[in-house]
Amino acid sequence: MTHGSGQVRVYKFGGTSVGSAERMRGAARLVAGCPGTPVVVVSAVAGVTDRLEALRTLAEKGNEEGWRGELEAIRALHLEILADLTGEGSDASEAGARIEEQVGEIRTRLERVQDDPGEGSGGPWETVGHQVAALGEDLSTILLETALRQEGVGALRIDAREVVRTDWQNGRGIPRDEETYRRARAALTPLVEAGTVPVLQGYIGATEDGRTTTLGRGGSDFTAAMVGAALGAPEVTIWTDVDGIHTSDPRIVPGARLLPELGFEEAVELAYFGARVIHPAAAKHAAARNVSLRIRNSFAPDREGTLIRADRREGPSVAAIAHRGGVVLIKVRSRPLFMAHGFLARVFEVLSRHHVPVDLVATSHTSTGFTLDREEELDAVVGDLQELAEVTVRRGMATVTVVGSGLLGRPGTTGRIFRVLEDRSVHLISQASDMSVSFLVDEDEAPEAVRRLHEELIEQGGWE
Ligand code: ASP
Ligand code: MG
Repeated sequence: MTHGSGQVRVYKFGGTSVGSAERMRGAARLVAGCPGTPVVVVSAVAGVTDRLEALRTLAEKGNEEGWRGELEAIRALHLEILADLTGEGSDASEAGARIEEQVGEIRTRLERVQDDPGEGSGGPWETVGHQVAALGEDLSTILLETALRQEGVGALRIDAREVVRTDWQNGRGIPRDEETYRRARAALTPLVEAGTVPVLQGYIGATEDGRTTTLGRGGSDFTAAMVGAALGAPEVTIWTDVDGIHTSDPRIVPGARLLPELGFEEAVELAYFGARVIHPAAAKHAAARNVSLRIRNSFAPDREGTLIRADRREGPSVAAIAHRGGVVLIKVRSRPLFMAHGFLARVFEVLSRHHVPVDLVATSHTSTGFTLDREEELDAVVGDLQELAEVTVRRGMATVTVVGSGLLGRPGTTGRIFRVLEDRSVHLISQASDMSVSFLVDEDEAPEAVRRLHEELIEQGGWE
C-alpha cells in the first residue's frame, strides 16, 4: 500500500485503540485504508500512563522494589504485544531492542534521581517525572510502527520531541504553536511527500534545551490537532472506543443519541464540563485553525462518528447535557467591614498562587462561590483564604451543564430548565456564555437531574 497523494489526514489513536496486538493490527489496517495521506499520532497503550504515574509515586516515596517491579511489568507487557504482533519474526529483534533501550534509559534515570534527589519544583524529580510519563508513548509508537510495517505500510517513527516545542510552566509543557508548526512541517512534509507514514508520540514534547515535557493527561489529542493545523489537514480523526459524542452519557440516559455533528464552541464547552471524548485544548486549538475533528470508533470503523465543525450551526438549539462529579464548592464571604475593597482580587490571587484552576464562579454582593475539580492543594488554598474571608467547603458535588448554541437568545429556555430542577437543591448557577449554563448539585442527584434535563430539552425538543 502506498500513500503520498491526496490531502493529509491526521489519524490519532487513543490507548484502547492500540490496547493489544489485535487492536494494533486493527489500527494499522485503518491507516492502510486511509483515503489521503496519513500522519499517525498515538497514545500510550491503554492503562500504561496511569501505571507510569503510580510508578513515579513509588519511586518518589523511595519504594525501590515497587517501582522496579512495575517497570518490569510494563516492559513485559510491551514485549508480549510485540511477540504477538511479529510471532518472533525478523521485525521483533529490532523493535525489541528499542523497547529495551527505552525502558533501560528510564531505569537508569530513576536510579540516578534516587541517589541524588535534589529538591524543589523544576528539580530532578520533576524532570524525571515527565520522562517517566512519556515512556508509554515512547513504547506504543515502536509497536504501532511495527504493526504498520507488517500491514505493508511504509511507516517511520519520528520523535515528537523534535516536533512539539514547549515551554516549561509549573511542571507542565505548554506548546509554542508557531515553532511547533514550523518543526512539524520541516520534519513531516518530506516524508509525507515521499509516501512514508510518520508515526509520532502524542502527549509529549521537549523544551528548547532538550528536556522532555508532557502536555497533561489526554494530551495526545492536542498533539494531533497541532500536527493537523501545521500540515493544513482539513480533518483530524480521533480514533477511540466510543461512537462519538452523545447528547448525554448513554450509561445514565437511555434516550441519549449520537450527535452526527457539533459546533466547535459546543464541543469545547462539553469537553470542559464532562464529556470525556476530547481534550478541551485540542478542540480549541483545532477551532482556531479551522481544522475539523472527527471522533470515530476504531472498534466499529464503519460508523461515521461525530464531526466537530468550525462553523456554527444556525439558530438556537440544545446540543447536550454533560455532567462531572468530584467537584468541590468553596464559598467565601468577606468579613464585615474588612477589606471589602479589592476582596475578589485577593481571593483570586490566592488561587493563582496555588496554580488552582477555577471552573465555575458566581458572585453576589456578600459572597462568592467557585468550584474546583481537584482536591490537591485544597487544604493549602482554604488555609490561605481563611486569612481574608469566612470560608465554607462542600465536597461531593457535581456540575450539570446544558450546552447548546444561542441559549440566552431563546425566550423561555431558562424557564424550562428551572422547572425541571425546581425540586432539587442547586448550590450554584453559572452562565458565562450563551453556549452553556451550569448548575452545581449533590453528586448523587446529578444522574437524575441530567435525565430530566435531557428529556425536557432534547427528547422533547421544540427548538426548531
Ligand atoms: N497517554 C496519555 C494519557 O493517558 C495521553 C493521552 O492518552 O492522550 O493521558
Ligand atoms: Mg489515554
